[in-house]
Amino acid sequence: MKLEAMPPTAPPIGSPFDLRVGVSEKVDEIDIRSAMESGEWGFIHSFTTGSAVDGPGVRIVGWLSGCQFRCVFCHNPDTWKVVNGTPIRLERAVEVVSQYRQGLRTMKGGLTISGGEPLLQYPFLSKLFPAIHERGIHTTLETNGFLGARLTNDDLASIDLVMLGLKAIEPDLHKRLTGMDTKPVHEFARRLAARKHPVWIRFVIVPGWTDNMEEVDRMAEFAASLGNVERVDVLPFHQMGRFKWEKLGMDYQMRDAKPPSRETMNEAISRFRAAGLTAV
Ligand code: SF4
Repeated sequence: MKLEAMPPTAPPIGSPFDLRVGVSEKVDEIDIRSAMESGEWGFIHSFTTGSAVDGPGVRIVGWLSGCQFRCVFCHNPDTWKVVNGTPIRLERAVEVVSQYRQGLRTMKGGLTISGGEPLLQYPFLSKLFPAIHERGIHTTLETNGFLGARLTNDDLASIDLVMLGLKAIEPDLHKRLTGMDTKPVHEFARRLAARKHPVWIRFVIVPGWTDNMEEVDRMAEFAASLGNVERVDVLPFHQMGRFKWEKLGMDYQMRDAKPPSRETMNEAISRFRAAGLTAV
């Protein structure tokens, strides 16, 4: 669904679903680095309008560049490096999103910041979310949770929903799958639970990695133990990112993997539901 009612000042749109924000100013690299630290600039891969799958309602999604995970199944390896994004001023990002305020309200949506891993650009987020939130726009952070400790309680007050991407529960499996430890992720999940902060969990069924029902049951048990999980998105691995790995000349372990079957997906969803969770 396309967001309507664009004001005259809105930037040009390449397609109804892909609004890329250009930055016309020439900026010295060193200035950007220090401005990033101040939160006055962010690096953004793109904005997408009209998403119905990245949080409640119809949303604008800001895809920030940079990620410290190295998930073997990642379909956005082009977002791993922060400098692969386009520098954007905080005030420009706020302006772009605010232009859609009325449409977002009508469609019960809001702004989702995703990536990459957005919390790598914490100073930018710590200013962007309050600015958007105080304009009455619903805010969602999609994160792998590893850097969740960077968020203060005040930061969390300006984030209406956290979409937490849990990759695996079993620590060794998580390490092999992502290159990173689970501990900070689980600590963040438990902190959000203690605050009763609304959370959606995203879990990808990755063939040969997380498609066994023992791991699914462990994930369901963990999610159910939190008490603040409103919904679990059980997502199938897909091959739509394969061309990016190839284009980047990177070794793609999942090159020949097939997406999980409908039966496997249904079984995984049923395991979450059996644990008392809303799973789709
Ligand atoms: S956390 Fe997300 S963006 Fe980062 S490597 Fe994993 S799947 Fe890719």
